[in-house]
Amino acid sequence: MIFDFNNPSKNPDEAREKFAVPIKCKCGQVGSATWEESAQLNPKGARPVLLDVSSGFYLRLRKKDIGKTEIVCAVCESVVPD
Ligand SMILES: [Zn+2]
Repeated sequence: MIFDFNNPSKNPDEAREKFAVPIKCKCGQVGSATWEESAQLNPKGARPVLLDVSSGFYLRLRKKDIGKTEIVCAVCESVVPD
């Protein structure tokens, strides 16, 4: 699923649990990351789950933090802090 700035979710249920955060790479590439609240899946409530990113970025598994993903710019291959 790709978040579209021009066409936000029209589904209230979906909007309640997911939210998109603007991201920007140091090279100027801009996009958005879609997160989902994960209170039920993660009782400790540490942080939401990163679901997807818009075109121009992609998700990659972190090497040191097993099970977590990082956002990578598809243009310059830089990791974008979330
Ligand atoms: Zn970049």
